[in-house]
Amino acid sequence: MDYAATILSKLPGANRRNHGVRRLVETLQSYLPEEQLAEITAAYEFGAEAHAGQKRKTGEAYITHPVAVAQELADMHLDAQAITAAILHDTVEDTEASLDDIAERFGSEVALLVDGVSKLDQIKFRSRAEAQAESFRKMMLAMIEDIRVILVKLADRLHNMQTLGAMPADKKRRIARETLDIYAPIANRLGINRLKVQLEDLGFKHLHPFRYRVLETALKKSQGSQKQIVKKISEEFGTAMADEGIAGEVVGRQKHLYSIYNKMAEKKRLLSDIVDVYGFRIICDDVNSCYQTLGIVHGLYKPMPGRFKDYIAIPRINGYQSLHTTLFGPKGLPLEVQIRTRDMDRLAESGVASHWIYKADEKSDATPQRRTREWLSNLEELHQSGTSEEFLESVKVDLFPDKIYVFTPKGDIMPLPKGATTVDFAYAVHTDVGDRCVSAKINRGLVPLRTELQNSQTVEIITARGAKPNPNWLTFVRTAKARTAIRQHMKNLRSFESVDLGKRLLDRSLKDIGSSLRKVGKVRMAEALTELRLDDNTELFEQVGLGQRLAPLTARFLTGMGNEEDKGNTASLIISGTEGMVISYGKCCYPIPGDDVMGYLTAGRGVVIHRNQCGNLSNFRKQPEKWISVHWEKDIDRDFFCQIQTDTRNKPGVLAEVAATIGDCGSNIEQVEVLGRHEDCSVLSFLLLVKDRVHLAKIMRSVRNMKNVIRVSRDCA
Ligand code: MN
Repeated sequence: MDYAATILSKLPGANRRNHGVRRLVETLQSYLPEEQLAEITAAYEFGAEAHAGQKRKTGEAYITHPVAVAQELADMHLDAQAITAAILHDTVEDTEASLDDIAERFGSEVALLVDGVSKLDQIKFRSRAEAQAESFRKMMLAMIEDIRVILVKLADRLHNMQTLGAMPADKKRRIARETLDIYAPIANRLGINRLKVQLEDLGFKHLHPFRYRVLETALKKSQGSQKQIVKKISEEFGTAMADEGIAGEVVGRQKHLYSIYNKMAEKKRLLSDIVDVYGFRIICDDVNSCYQTLGIVHGLYKPMPGRFKDYIAIPRINGYQSLHTTLFGPKGLPLEVQIRTRDMDRLAESGVASHWIYKADEKSDATPQRRTREWLSNLEELHQSGTSEEFLESVKVDLFPDKIYVFTPKGDIMPLPKGATTVDFAYAVHTDVGDRCVSAKINRGLVPLRTELQNSQTVEIITARGAKPNPNWLTFVRTAKARTAIRQHMKNLRSFESVDLGKRLLDRSLKDIGSSLRKVGKVRMAEALTELRLDDNTELFEQVGLGQRLAPLTARFLTGMGNEEDKGNTASLIISGTEGMVISYGKCCYPIPGDDVMGYLTAGRGVVIHRNQCGNLSNFRKQPEKWISVHWEKDIDRDFFCQIQTDTRNKPGVLAEVAATIGDCGSNIEQVEVLGRHEDCSVLSFLLLVKDRVHLAKIMRSVRNMKNVIRVSRDCA
């Protein structure tokens, strides 16, 4: 059945459009089975209808563009899904069609490909710096889960470059620059030479139209005059091979304008040195024939010393395999000859795409990632010798990245580890930005600071003067930079607080023995500091505050009194609940204002307050010098954690009732735990926030009066 005829008969309109489809269908017919062709045909009809009425800048119907993109991929013999996605690649962006429509008609995989291409279209390259271009390429590769997305995108860009003629000059230059900076290097990285070469030449043409024309003219001229010689030598090679019984194809090789331009610019060589070289490519059936052919051409013309390269035995890093040699041709003109097999030729042209080439016998269960890995592992196999692993590593990292790439509001690209949050971003911008950040916007919308970032988002950090890092951030930040900065800040804060506490502790201990800081005086203090090898009294206070130096001993040391006059700690430390991190409250007994409490000095952590009933107080006898007497300030206005236990009857809704009662008493429940469940009763434990003992008593009384509550008690370890 002639599909081309069937499809074309259905389509009204311009011949040119039909022409594009005819060629595409003919190409597809040559390698795809009928049913897949039918699917692609349906996609064409879908796309043509969706784009109906839209025109390209060139004046052609819009559908000619996706058809041309599909043609490029069909020339590489890519699979039906990639071709279908190519035909539909602009429908979601530019027409009424939705992704769901596509998923329904053509399957979720095609829809994923179209979605991937649309997403790549949404990110815009904004700056031209070299490093930025590199990051941008990485970001594009990081965004895609299926390498076919980038194949469609490269083919899309290629056709857009081919039809750039109708654009204003400055826009052309911008697109050309972007093509050279971003797309051609991606094609190169993926080993797709045929796309790379075309993208480069077109980019060069529109970026430097004048230089391009000069080179093009010069090259045409030299090729015109070379034509006869190239033909003659090609025939000579072919005959010699045939004489030896070697099948092969000899072609005169086209020069790639952009590479000539680069050679001239980089190596400062004259145009004539580069273009006056005759290029040949010989494609053989197998590797043996390649080496035999090499012998034949070396027999015909003398090889130039040092120019022979065996890339078959030692492939280039992107998988390229070929024999290269340069010969002294007629009149001493150099002849560059490449010899390789058909397979090597295909791999050299298509790179990673060669793994998406349709194969009739294939059981297609390979995931996109697996195929890409296959290509990479092929490269690795070729490079058992271990040369230039760096390139391979970098490709691998680009294709299977552990990084995401996001934009600053100015358009700079910031690489961050996967899972990084807005706070990591803030610290990556600058430590000051991180320290003072209060909120964040992603793509202009406010988000919580703990929000994980995704590829290509634009992130903006809002800072406030006097804002401080929050220790809670440590629970979600991913980068070492953010973590270190937050810890550093907390350390500074703690050191500030501990100086204050240490001073109070020391003064209190001095008063115990009838002295005070004032009575000790500057002279004695300076003396003592020298003996203790400390820089100043701040350092001393900090050490005391952090519990690294015990206040009573330090007090005796300062006053020159011995240990013998121990009167015990009589004056006690007043705690107000506002000391910050140097005073903390035991999670074993949850002391609250009104409880009888003691403080335990912990080296490096300051004072931990425990209730006198707390089991931990049993250490007191072992280390009495570490325990200090404390008591509460009179009017403390803050909440403290406190734990209560209830025995309740197993009735529906009883937990909610207890919670409501607690809430009514003006307390927040931080945590509920079911400690035990018996036949008709359950033991529940609540972690509450309360003001003091009076407040707690009120809560317990209310709960105890409830119908389904049997018992209420305060936990105490
Ligand atoms: Mn397009």
